[in-house]
Amino acid sequence: MMNECMPKPLIKASYLSDPLSRKTTTGVDVGGVIVGGVAPIVVQSMTNTDTADIDATVAQVAALHRAGSELVRITVDRDEAAAAVPHIRDKLLAKGVSVPLIGDFHYIGHKLLADHPACAEALDKYRINPGNVGFSEKKDLQFAAIIETAIRNNKPVRIGVNWGSLDQALLTRLMDDNQQAGSPRASREVTREAMVQSALLSAGQANDIGLPNERIILSAKVSQVQDLIAVYCALAERSSHALHLGLTEAGMGSKGIVASSAAMGILLQQGIGDTIRISLTPEPGGDRTREVLVAQELLQTMGFRSFVPIVAACPGCGRTTSTVFQELASSIQKHLRLKMPEWKEKYPGVADLNVAVMGCIVNGPGESKHADIGISLPGMGETPTAPVFIDGKKAHTLRGANIAAEFHELVEDYVASRFGN
Ligand code: SF4
Repeated sequence: MMNECMPKPLIKASYLSDPLSRKTTTGVDVGGVIVGGVAPIVVQSMTNTDTADIDATVAQVAALHRAGSELVRITVDRDEAAAAVPHIRDKLLAKGVSVPLIGDFHYIGHKLLADHPACAEALDKYRINPGNVGFSEKKDLQFAAIIETAIRNNKPVRIGVNWGSLDQALLTRLMDDNQQAGSPRASREVTREAMVQSALLSAGQANDIGLPNERIILSAKVSQVQDLIAVYCALAERSSHALHLGLTEAGMGSKGIVASSAAMGILLQQGIGDTIRISLTPEPGGDRTREVLVAQELLQTMGFRSFVPIVAACPGCGRTTSTVFQELASSIQKHLRLKMPEWKEKYPGVADLNVAVMGCIVNGPGESKHADIGISLPGMGETPTAPVFIDGKKAHTLRGANIAAEFHELVEDYVASRFGN
């Protein structure tokens, strides 16, 4: 039987007919945020500050949370970072930021957690990598030490396998077995299998030590789209663990966004994935919160969650050579995002609002009628008026130099009247 997750076809028709169906996994409580089960797909992110720099890390965690990150991961790579963790937690709480913090451990996690009990206590989850938790005879001991610390502190653990730091002993064994098999598989397939086995074997090992599935999240990150799809489909088929989904080393800008969206979109559509992170490489000095916005937009455009009202805008063409409509589309999207912290308390359901900003009469009125509130700006050669459609009906005609400001006001009025009660 063909593995349904291998290329061609990638999406079964049944999933397309019910895109919101999700594979139910074991829910995991991460500092009060549920990952898996029937909970909504959780958006998470990771800082890129030196964790030992308490103020910088506090500022970035707060910014990521403000942007919508529901969990934030921080690097814990040395004593100074581990010692800083409880102070980061306290400073965040003093600022009213109670986002769960995840500690990212490699190589010496067992030692840092043992030497810094306040860090072990302050974190809401530990992320460990079976490929570098320890080597040779120390591997199992160090893995066990971390799991025991998690059990003592009632913390969940993400067992996060990574293509770039895969358990080499396991990979070598599978490669050797493959060579001796009658018809050996391609080495790429064996590596995918090693990713899956590494995650599942480590989860079983954690179970044996006493950590229940309700405290285990799995991930198996790779940097290629088809590998990610194949590996996560296998993980979803072979376990009921909550899954953290992300394309690692996705890259910069549009490449990172496209690759992450392509891979994760296919998996999410099949009900696979309980929490997502978009691993974007920021431009030098770029805004780290972009990865949060992209994750939200991915979930919202696929219809899984609503975070902020969406603005539909046409791409523009030779019929609209001025920048007026681009400026209006951009300003209204920024305005909506800016207003959301206030609106989501005051106007429940406002995140589902649809706004359209269109460039000319060709698709403008039609698309605006489909939105809750939409404006069709005049293209070249058209009468310089801008009809505004509300709930599918033409409600206003704007003209003159203040169209943008007037449309903003109309959107505000619409939000207050529709969601205010
Ligand atoms: S709506 Fe008008 S301006 Fe916008 S892309 Fe279509 S034809 Fe061009």
